[in-house]
Amino acid sequence: MAERISGHTELIGLIATPIRHSSSPKMHNEAFAKLGLDYVYLAFEVGTEQLEDTIKGFRAMNIRGSNVSMPNKTVVHKYLDKLSPAAELCGAVNTIVNDNGVLTGHITDGIGYMSALKDAGIDIIGKKMTIVGAGGAATAIQVQAALDGVAEISIFNRKDEFYANAEQTVKKLREKTNCIVNLYDLSDLDKLKEEISTSVILTNATGVGMKPLEGQTYIPDPSFLREDLIVSDIVYSPRETALLKMAKEAGCKKTMNGLGMMLFQGAAAFEMWTGKPMPIEYMKEILDIKY
Ligand code: NAD
Repeated sequence: MAERISGHTELIGLIATPIRHSSSPKMHNEAFAKLGLDYVYLAFEVGTEQLEDTIKGFRAMNIRGSNVSMPNKTVVHKYLDKLSPAAELCGAVNTIVNDNGVLTGHITDGIGYMSALKDAGIDIIGKKMTIVGAGGAATAIQVQAALDGVAEISIFNRKDEFYANAEQTVKKLREKTNCIVNLYDLSDLDKLKEEISTSVILTNATGVGMKPLEGQTYIPDPSFLREDLIVSDIVYSPRETALLKMAKEAGCKKTMNGLGMMLFQGAAAFEMWTGKPMPIEYMKEILDIKY
């Protein structure tokens, strides 16, 4: 590292709290080193109270950009100059790019999910998806899928505090895209079965399947699935969730865990800052990513 840092080295930040557990610094610094790019990526413990000053600092120091995580994702837009269409629709930002003093907010979670599908040889453009979830990650995927040209999205969520988010997403996507979008209560299992039966892919974009809900799935039994259904889970710890296990039991030929989304959301931000594609195969190797 000492050999890499010079007076020219550019800073990329990550602002969130808590943040010390994040794997993003390792991912980006390994990629900079591999490509010989003169950047360093550092995590800063920043919450909403310090957010405005932090962004002013970014401007004053003219740093190239930053990632943004909780609790700042839905607040930081106030301090930026522009938003990408996806960030605007999601009401959330996870990446800031500074182009000569103009700060643009992007959201790369949905791009990450769609790129991971592509990398796994899965094409859902022009087709129908059933996705469960109405939180931050689910919204980003729904927005990007609609922007990318997925023809129809059936969203399911339980009637908790996130349900209203999904209602907003449906409203915005109907207004701004040509995608057919519908929302259903996750407790309507007959509807869930029916929508899955006409979809090419089922996506879990909730925390069900990871701690403290590890070993659980809301899919009652394998009869909801079929061999040619793609089953994808954005949870990556464990790598094989109860849903993915059930999919294998049901004979589903294609399954995907959340590691690809994690890698490709980083890759999208990396390319926005550096103009260079992340060395994906190398990153998969050193981060031990298999999906
Ligand atoms: P969030 O808190 O914003 O949303 C939580 C979602 O889970 C909501 O839709 C909620 O209704 C649903 N939910 C919670 N408990 C449930 C239950 N018992 N039954 C049914 N639904 C339930 O969270 P988020 O940031 O959107 O993250 C959701 C999951 O996605 C987490 O497991 C997170 O680790 C994972 N994630 C993965 C990536 C990736 O890159 N692979 C990125 C972001 C998030």
